[in-house]
Amino acid sequence: MNKLAKLDQRYVWHPFTQMRDWLRAEPIVIVEGRGAVLRDARGREYLDGNSSIWTNLHGHQHPKINAAIQRQLKKIAHSSALGLANEPASLLAERLIRAAAIRPGTRSTRRTSRHASTPPLAKVFFSDDGSTALEVALKLAYEFTRRTRGPKARPRFLSLSGAYHGDTIGAVSLGHIDLFHAAYGGMLFKTDAVMSPYCYRCPFNRARPERQDARNYRKCKWECVGQVEKKFSTQSKRGNPYAAFVFEPVMQGAAGMIAQPEGWLEQATEIARSHGALLIADEVMTGFGRMAKKAESGKAGKRKRTGILVPQIFATAQAGVIPDFLCLAKGMTGGYLPMAATLTTQRVFDAFLGKYEEFKTFFHGHSFTGNQLGAAASLASLDLLQSAGSIRARAELQRNLERELQSLWDLPAIGDIRQAGLVAGIELVRDWRTREPFPAAARAGIRVCEAMARRGVLTRPVGNVIVLMPPYCTTKAQLQQMVMALREAVMETHRCAD
Ligand code: PMP
Repeated sequence: MNKLAKLDQRYVWHPFTQMRDWLRAEPIVIVEGRGAVLRDARGREYLDGNSSIWTNLHGHQHPKINAAIQRQLKKIAHSSALGLANEPASLLAERLIRAAAIRPGTRSTRRTSRHASTPPLAKVFFSDDGSTALEVALKLAYEFTRRTRGPKARPRFLSLSGAYHGDTIGAVSLGHIDLFHAAYGGMLFKTDAVMSPYCYRCPFNRARPERQDARNYRKCKWECVGQVEKKFSTQSKRGNPYAAFVFEPVMQGAAGMIAQPEGWLEQATEIARSHGALLIADEVMTGFGRMAKKAESGKAGKRKRTGILVPQIFATAQAGVIPDFLCLAKGMTGGYLPMAATLTTQRVFDAFLGKYEEFKTFFHGHSFTGNQLGAAASLASLDLLQSAGSIRARAELQRNLERELQSLWDLPAIGDIRQAGLVAGIELVRDWRTREPFPAAARAGIRVCEAMARRGVLTRPVGNVIVLMPPYCTTKAQLQQMVMALREAVMETHRCAD
């Protein structure tokens, strides 16, 4: 066994990993990456099929991001944000606020007029990862609610069924993955869940399974939106309206790559607003161009999708929704360094202003808050993201992904293929005609990913959903290789499962 692999097995405990299984086989030890390709200690090459767990945007070793980090390194790597400001963090805060704004003249703006009372995002609180970005939003929303509704208020939160918002205790409390609640239930606080718009497995969808994305053939009356309305009304009638609605816009990631039908987000957030709830948008996965959306042209009623992407890089802004909290992480630094941000409004910020001895301060912060290397990488990544070349490349990648995924529909073990922007969730089933799932013991998703790795493509499943989330620099040939590996892996493992 490779020396590094041996050391790993001896000393390292891996996240979300059954270590008994891990210790059975020699692990892949990554030593290098360039573009969409990863290389291991044995010299084998792999395509990074999930952008290194949804973090990487422009590919590994991007010359512009490398150079930005190196330039910053020659100045300083880190100084504290407690009592001190720094150059790249100040510049980045301004860039993030500008990137989160809804641009005038777009279709989104007209939609937003319904949210006319919503002020734009104005302040940035930096932290380290997705969980802390959510934790910050949660604490701010909690305290803001108590300050506006009175100290006796008992702020209550609503999020989507199956939601995942991170691993810290607050973030797990916002989530609704039964497994985690079974493990940590006693440590968590209570939050409510409302059905997420999972068309493929929706009890209200009366359509029989077809060989296309379930959102396209669903037969329903938007009962999922009705459920959101019911949840908010019931809570309001109890005299304690929800303090905040927490959601991933356009696509729920760890819940199973659940892509929302068009219009759900606008309707659900409109309802939340009408009940006075704050909106906490978790764009840890969806942000920074992942939910690439095609622009529309033509007159009302005859609008058509063009091949050009809308310039907004956040899924909420694309939908014309301005949240009170926008949580960002993963791709913020281009996937180079752990850094996160929670954007919020002037209104929230102002509620924490007061005399020193009033103790209205936001008592929260981390040692590496506003880290210079991370901020420098983020600025370089934003430059790339907003360049015409990257927008064009993402539009092409989206088209290629759409086209390649079509080739999978003839596999009977595939029940649904859900693409949102530059992400695809491919749901494996025992029988597509009945949507019968594979049992957990079959480890269907894991086995397909293992078979893909043997074919030189790395990704991780979410249960029985295979995730394809290529870096934005992925070429057409590389994407074809990813989908081909998936196809062959499903064929191989499905035969075993029979
Ligand atoms: N929110 C979402 C939507 C996520 O997908 C994740 C991580 N997969 C998190 C929060 C937590 O982020 P992190 O792992 O960086 O703490």
